[in-house]
Amino acid sequence: MDSKTERKSYVIKPEWGKQYPRISHGKGIYLYEESGKRYMDACSGAVTVSIGHAMDEVVDAMRQQAEKVSFAYRSHFSSEAVEELAEILAAWAPGNVNWSFFVSSGSEATETAQKIAIQYWQEQGRMTKNRILSRWMSYHGITMGALSMSGHVLRRKRFVPLLADYPCISAPYPYRNQQGLDSDAYARQAADELEAAIIRTGAENVAAFIAEPIIGASGGAVVPPDGYFARIREICTKHQILFIADEVMTGVGRTGKNFGIDHWQVTPDVMTLGKGMSSGYTPMAATMVSDSIMQTIAEGSGSIMAGHTYSANPQSAAICVSVIRYMQQHQLVKKAEENGKYLLQHLKQIEQEFDIVGEARGKGLLCGIEFVKNKLTKEPFALSHQVTNRMIQKAFAKGLMIYPAIGGLDGVAGDAVIISPPLIIEQHEIDELIHLLRQTLQEAQAEFKKEGIW
Ligand code: PMP
Repeated sequence: MDSKTERKSYVIKPEWGKQYPRISHGKGIYLYEESGKRYMDACSGAVTVSIGHAMDEVVDAMRQQAEKVSFAYRSHFSSEAVEELAEILAAWAPGNVNWSFFVSSGSEATETAQKIAIQYWQEQGRMTKNRILSRWMSYHGITMGALSMSGHVLRRKRFVPLLADYPCISAPYPYRNQQGLDSDAYARQAADELEAAIIRTGAENVAAFIAEPIIGASGGAVVPPDGYFARIREICTKHQILFIADEVMTGVGRTGKNFGIDHWQVTPDVMTLGKGMSSGYTPMAATMVSDSIMQTIAEGSGSIMAGHTYSANPQSAAICVSVIRYMQQHQLVKKAEENGKYLLQHLKQIEQEFDIVGEARGKGLLCGIEFVKNKLTKEPFALSHQVTNRMIQKAFAKGLMIYPAIGGLDGVAGDAVIISPPLIIEQHEIDELIHLLRQTLQEAQAEFKKEGIW
């Protein structure tokens, strides 16, 4: 299994047999491998490192908290750090979504959201309201409950017999609005799919509907038409179904607003956060709920039936507080909005220049480009051609990191990548990003042509 020349490693890595360079260190928007090679982290790792690598302020906060205490179990103690973090998030969140339940990953956050939604109805004696509805183009996490809600076919495939069949409607996908409806009509049609699904299932059997405000890993920054989420909100309220906004990727400033859903001034009942809330300095995530959910549970059993050993640990909370304070001090949400426009404008140019680029899209610093075999018909590449993975490898070789977005809806949605640099990126660095991306695409386009797959 290991050759004499290779260093022995017992770490199970994502792909068997692949050589991964070892990371040495990072600074700002760059990462360096042990050989000294530099990478521009144009996807913030997994859309995570929102304020950049190795920032002094966070390192100081880590040390200060560690000198006091790192771990105190949430059943024994609260802490200043965790209370401060919850207070900041309540101030950032829309409407009356004020309460935070802390976990350690996005999957745990959506898993917990599902449990809280079911418990909320149980507290009111509505025991059959325990089904979650979700969309086919979606990703909500890798644990069984989170995967049940996810329409990410590639990740579901192996476990289908164990999963609940929650995905049941399509997500609006303006690039592939086949009937060519105008934006309002398209938004309405897509949202009304939810109402039809609720009627089919029976509202008395449905606890919640979950959606990503902007689709990430299974679509590549797919932005819904205006009006979609307002109508979703209306439908959920009308049928007494909770609306869960999965903000794990879009939350905490990434899209140029505090939360993705803020683009449409809609208030969900539950929000899940992860990734950028800690900027990757620690595994940390949260499920946020509204006052009325919290009140119902408080007046009922009085405790949420979820939680993990590391939930709400002071060390992680202190790190998140320092990350969000840094964002506030440097106005990074506003910066993400402005630089996002600059990035998208350049990506739109790339869309014009390259025949394999079907669309460039996104909001703030969550952007994506979709690859197509035929620009006119929008025919996607077959997944077997591995276009996204090859594109990512090519970019990586050039020192540019971009992120895959393939949902596995073969023949429906194709290959896409996410471009989501840290929110601290400057415009001259975006120019460098675009330069490397252009080189990557030129090379890939020529290679695909030679191979006859394009
Ligand atoms: N929800 C969304 C929208 C995500 O993008 C992700 C991660 N890509 C998750 C949930 C799962 O988060 P994690 O990988 O931290 O478990």
